[in-house]
Amino acid sequence: MLNKKKAAGRRQRVTGRGMSSFPQPASCLFIVSAPSGTGKTTLCRKAVDYFPDLMHSISYTTRPPRKGEKDGIDYHFISKKVFQRMIDREEFLEWAEVHGNSYGTALKDTQCLIDKGLDIILDIDVQGAKKIKQQIALHNMPFPVYIFILPPSLKVSEERIRSRGGDSPKAISERLENARAEIRDAVYYDYLIINDGLEDAFERLKSIITAEKSRSERMMEKVKAVYKEII
Ligand code: ADP
Ligand code: 5GP
Repeated sequence: MLNKKKAAGRRQRVTGRGMSSFPQPASCLFIVSAPSGTGKTTLCRKAVDYFPDLMHSISYTTRPPRKGEKDGIDYHFISKKVFQRMIDREEFLEWAEVHGNSYGTALKDTQCLIDKGLDIILDIDVQGAKKIKQQIALHNMPFPVYIFILPPSLKVSEERIRSRGGDSPKAISERLENARAEIRDAVYYDYLIINDGLEDAFERLKSIITAEKSRSERMMEKVKAVYKEII
């Protein structure tokens, strides 16, 4: 068993968090990654519906919409030219090439939510998650909480991608091939959830969000009133 000092040191190495980041803005930034077909879009949507202060930052992508997907709701669907212009103007907090398409998170969207004191959930791939770690200091953002969602097996992922519909056979095999590399990076995340049953996975996601919201370094603004009474 680790003593408290060692445990704190280990935590700092893995996640980069700890008392050195004290105090934190009240807003929380949740980064959720998973191989395709795991259910992260489904889980993130449930979380946004459940927590009134939690917002999803809608990404920009050059991928064409799947059947049923709506511009401005699922993604901002944009051309390669417009995406490149956003890169040139440094409008992205992060962006990456994933499964042959470009995806990015707009800096202004996340900053606007943080300015309003809201919590943010970003559904982004592992490359984007790494880039955000480098960006937070530059943009005065809250230290992210990294959550990785795993499928019970790759076979189940494949079944879920097929049942969702909308991906070509080539896109499905590319996504399954990429899943192996993505799962290797799961160990660098703060939390792992296996999405075997949706309700159980959602309970775990809810617990993580609630616990992270209650961390003392994030509660400072809220406890000020109580402190004033005792000082
Ligand atoms: P991702 O965003 O990770 O690619 P989605 O959220 O789009 O995955 O989910 C892929 C498909 O799997 C959807 O049809 C969704 O309804 C379904 N799904 C998600 N979680 C589960 C689960 N625990 N059990 C069965 N089907 C699920
Ligand atoms: P899909 O095409 O299935 O919607 O998403 C494919 C992958 O792109 C998923 O891993 C998803 O998390 C990731 N993704 C979606 N939006 C962004 C984004 O803004 N940035 C990055 N880096 N990845 C994203």
